Amino acid sequence: MKNSPQAVQVLVVDDEQDIRDGSERILSRMGCRVFKAGRGEEGLDILSREPINIVLLDLKMPGMDGMEVLSRIKSRDKEILVIVITGFATVETAIEAMKQGAYDFISKPFEPDQLRIVINRARDKIRLTQDTEKLMAERKRTLTDLGTEKSRIHTIVESLPVGLGVTNTSGQVVLMNPSFRRRLGLDPDREPGESISAYVDNAEFCNLVMEISRGVSMDSSEARTCEFLLPDENYLMARGRPVLGEDNMCLGAVINLVDISAIKVLDRLKSEFVAKVSHELRSPLSTIHEQLALVIRDMTDDEAGQDQYILSRAKEKTQGLISLIGDLLDLSRIEAGNICQEPRPVQIDKLLSSIVDFIGAKARSKQQILDLHLPSVALPPVTADPVAIESIFGNLITNAIHYTQDGGKIRVTATAEKDGLCVSISDNGFGIEAKHLENIFKRFYRVKNEKTRFITGTGLGLPIVKGLLDELGGSVKVDSTVGKGSAFTVFLPMGG
Ligand code: ADP
Repeated sequence: MKNSPQAVQVLVVDDEQDIRDGSERILSRMGCRVFKAGRGEEGLDILSREPINIVLLDLKMPGMDGMEVLSRIKSRDKEILVIVITGFATVETAIEAMKQGAYDFISKPFEPDQLRIVINRARDKIRLTQDTEKLMAERKRTLTDLGTEKSRIHTIVESLPVGLGVTNTSGQVVLMNPSFRRRLGLDPDREPGESISAYVDNAEFCNLVMEISRGVSMDSSEARTCEFLLPDENYLMARGRPVLGEDNMCLGAVINLVDISAIKVLDRLKSEFVAKVSHELRSPLSTIHEQLALVIRDMTDDEAGQDQYILSRAKEKTQGLISLIGDLLDLSRIEAGNICQEPRPVQIDKLLSSIVDFIGAKARSKQQILDLHLPSVALPPVTADPVAIESIFGNLITNAIHYTQDGGKIRVTATAEKDGLCVSISDNGFGIEAKHLENIFKRFYRVKNEKTRFITGTGLGLPIVKGLLDELGGSVKVDSTVGKGSAFTVFLPMGG
């Protein structure tokens, strides 16, 4: 329930009893709380005790006169509204009283309605003053809150353990916290204000920040990332997002920096461990595989049947493990930079022909058509390690065969471009859902669905392709539509 507004308190100071009592009757009916005084001194006494809002003050009184009372009231509290009561003959005095700070006046004798009008006017004025005061207090509080909030956010940003930097649309740093400076090895007093490239000597990082700042990548839901090495051998991971203002306008970029040096060391140790274990397992597994093949081959017809089935399954499984180990060793070599060590001119058209010939048997066993389309003029050679090139296209063509239904089509096309060669491997197979596309180049990532469930694989083929192409300075991109097929396009730079 809403509280009723507090009653206005009115003090009537008049030496005439009739005026005091008559006024009290009218004012009480108007909902006012009324106090009465027959003399000025008595009125001032009440004022010192009660929170009076309005004083109805007779100017002509015995003892202390109205003007004196008015001046005392005003010197005590300017907010009290004084309405002076004047006789016909004392209009000048009324004007004088107004000059001294009286709010209004009413002439004697007055009708009840006249009193109601002046009191109502005074009450409106009080209400307005109170509303204004309330609004001012509210505004002051909001500003104080804002100020507190701002300094709180500032303190939080300053003490964040991750490096945080903000740029404007020109890529100038407008804010950086102490961790940001520390991560980049900057002076603790280094001020923002310069372009990002003045603080970080790394082209990839600076390009990323510039692109996000200029609004090239407007998707604020996904952070763009880049890893880079500082001269002090520290590895940093940067994540950047656009700062979007009203109407989705890009206002700049927010960048966060995390030190990932320890993760990198762990990663290297893990790779070394995997390489070592894989190496140790490869020989015994190959021996088991060969022995199983011999046993199966030498089985007599009597022994064949259930036993042969079990041994064949065991042989298949060891073959799977040998492939996995081979892939893991390839990845370790790529990570250690031990691949592409002997670059020489490679005739891609010849190499593609021999790969297609070799893998063609697999496609034929699935009644698939595997075509190779080469330009009529011989392609210029690329300088690269032939084993690496063989691995790239071997993986991509094998994938196309695996992930295309029986009777499907696979087409390999090679063309010469301005600074390199383009090789596309397209199929009309199962295709890949868009949500998986950015993950299929991650290690062990395999798309599992009704179509691919029974296809064995390691999830390491595409990471090997990507790793090798990174080493060669090339790239791979994929277009795919579920149910229609996929196209993997490889770019190989001429220089290798
Ligand atoms: P693997 O083939 O051993 O599973 P890859 O790294 O070579 O591992 O491929 C990762 C995943 O990408 C596969 O599991 C498959 O789901 C998908 N994929 C790769 N190539 C194709 C293709 N041509 N068509 C459809 N899906 C593909």
